[in-house]
Amino acid sequence: MLRFKNLGSGSAGNATLIEATCGLQVSRLLVDCGLSVRELNRRLLAADLTLEDVDAVFITHEHADHIGHAKSFALRTGKPVWMSRGTALASQFFDWGLSPSQCHIARDSQVFELGCLQITPFTVPHDAREPLQLRCTDGSHHMGVLTDLGHGSAHVVQALQRCHALLLECNHDRELLANSTYPPFLKKRIAGPQGHLSNEESAELAKALVHPQLNLIVAAHLSERNNRPELAQDILAQATGCAAADIPVADPLNGTPWHSVH
Ligand SMILES: [Zn+2]
Ligand SMILES: [Zn+2]
Repeated sequence: MLRFKNLGSGSAGNATLIEATCGLQVSRLLVDCGLSVRELNRRLLAADLTLEDVDAVFITHEHADHIGHAKSFALRTGKPVWMSRGTALASQFFDWGLSPSQCHIARDSQVFELGCLQITPFTVPHDAREPLQLRCTDGSHHMGVLTDLGHGSAHVVQALQRCHALLLECNHDRELLANSTYPPFLKKRIAGPQGHLSNEESAELAKALVHPQLNLIVAAHLSERNNRPELAQDILAQATGCAAADIPVADPLNGTPWHSVH
């Protein structure tokens, strides 16, 4: 059984828990650690879990909303941490004071295993040193985590073929961003090909990934100032032929309930 629960999404801090159960074995991967250890603990407790229940952490890239509290988490729990070599260099990962057995380098298209969870990282176009997003499977069902990318490259589309569920970035509405008070350089960065997906771009990508067994798309990493949940839901629903109410939106503070991948 494969399921996931977002614990918080957006520029205030990202964290998603992915859980695979095979017989008596349960494996849990935390994707990104942008929440303080205290806050992470609070949100895990709300799901009847503790920090100890996390088996490993995967960091997608060095932006603070993703890596911000990974070092404290790793030092406190002794859990293994995975990230790309570029992210490791950008964040001085090897100087964090972790034991060598905690430090793991992830590579594009190279599968690694955590109990019965198989993880396939893949590179994405984003303005970080070597950003990776990931595809996870328990052997029978597949899900993709895809936030922080400027456009849906052919490699991304290829990496996420035939997933049953997606946690997909819907960062901004183009018009809200264009009319926002953000400085021009920041608007350009966000809207650019190495920035973040607009609702339209997410919808286009969703369309490219639709197949009969894609049952769930959760909208994530919404900008609090330049987007609204209903705008993302409407356009994703249109693109995939479902109802807007069938598109859950990851809340910046509360994340999502558990979603099983089937
Ligand atoms: Zn981010
Ligand atoms: Zn980022």
